[in-house]
Amino acid sequence: MREAYFFTRNPRLAAEAKRLRNYTCEVCSFNFRQHYGALGVGFAECHHKNPLAERPEELWSQALTTSLDDVVVVCANCHRMLHRQRPALSVEVLRTRWEAANQ
Ligand SMILES: [Zn+2]
Ligand SMILES: [Zn+2]
Repeated sequence: MREAYFFTRNPRLAAEAKRLRNYTCEVCSFNFRQHYGALGVGFAECHHKNPLAERPEELWSQALTTSLDDVVVVCANCHRMLHRQRPALSVEVLRTRWEAANQ
């Protein structure tokens, strides 16, 4: 997966985004520590905002992608849901859907 590879190559960006957002999902507010205890401490996934995530790998240059604004912190479930469609859903759209289904 291209996106995972990107974050592997930019570990500091991913770590900083997760830390700044408290390791809490920006869609559903799931927090792994809250639900899994010590095992979940410091765990979250990073999502790269589209359409960059769908661009060819050669365009995944540092210059294009170092901004924290391009990174969304999500739980594993929401991350999979974001990528359920191509191009991926935006966080805002997924959050609206999540809220509609979880009233
Ligand atoms: Zn979530
Ligand atoms: Zn993603």
